[in-house]
Amino acid sequence: MDKTRSTGNPAEAHVNERLSGYLDGELTQQNRQQVSLHLETCRLCAENLESLRELRGRMGQAGLGNTDKEVWREMMDDTTVRFTRGIGWILFLGGLLIIAGIGVFMFISSTSMGVGEKLLASAVYIGLGALFVSVLRQRLIERKTDRYKDVEI
Ligand SMILES: [Zn+2]
Repeated sequence: MDKTRSTGNPAEAHVNERLSGYLDGELTQQNRQQVSLHLETCRLCAENLESLRELRGRMGQAGLGNTDKEVWREMMDDTTVRFTRGIGWILFLGGLLIIAGIGVFMFISSTSMGVGEKLLASAVYIGLGALFVSVLRQRLIERKTDRYKDVEI
């Protein structure tokens, strides 16, 4: 894909690195003449110029430059927020699970408790665990969906 680099014989001076300036009219007259002369004889560079021009046109339509960068930054921010929120959920629920686990363990290991109470405590723990898994699963699904959305953009 890297068309900006000269390939093959280095003595054969391709004008790839000057095509951009050529399109933008940033070259000196001498340089511009060299480029157009080369373009007449080199199909590779002429094709490169054509695709570069096409790319510029498409970018111009989208009002490129800053707008594109801003969209990108917004996307990054969004991802960061989502990621942080996901971590927050995992930490919160994980911590809750551990606390509940310790509580249940203490309940169950204490002999003064009846079987019914032990079962109840276990049920709470299992319920919490199920909740944790389901939330985690949803988060993962959401993240996957978001990734597809990003690709579409
Ligand atoms: Zn060339």
